[in-house]
Amino acid sequence: MADDCIFCKIAQGSIPATFIYQDDEIMAFRDINPHAPVHVLICPRQHITNVAEVTDQTEPLMGRLIKVAADIARQENVADKGFRLLTNNGPEGGQVVMHLHFHLLGGRQMKGLG
Ligand code: 5GP
Ligand code: ZN
Repeated sequence: MADDCIFCKIAQGSIPATFIYQDDEIMAFRDINPHAPVHVLICPRQHITNVAEVTDQTEPLMGRLIKVAADIARQENVADKGFRLLTNNGPEGGQVVMHLHFHLLGGRQMKGLG
């Protein structure tokens, strides 16, 4: 738990979210400001700032996050048509919430990488 981290508060249940998957390590919930018909955030429950902070200890968890994303893509019916899975890192990477998360975006044509 990091003080003043929105996603830690969501993990604790003190801020509500629309969860679509949870286990003891991972949570996935709908983005409050969706950029696509499907916009789900998939993140570890524990506070890891971003990919730059991944260690040998948390490496297996990164694989699990991607597997959960693939399961959610199928569940949300975007796996066949295609979807985008991205994670922003640090200020120049466009990261606003400093708790590692993958964006799963689908349901429309994705363009560019700006
Ligand atoms: P970032 O820019 O850090 O990669 O993305 C942060 C994302 O978190 C944004 O898409 C933003 O809409 C979402 N977000 C910020 N605060 C909340 C919140 O309280 N609840 C939910 N569900 N999403 C949030
Ligand atoms: Zn956090």
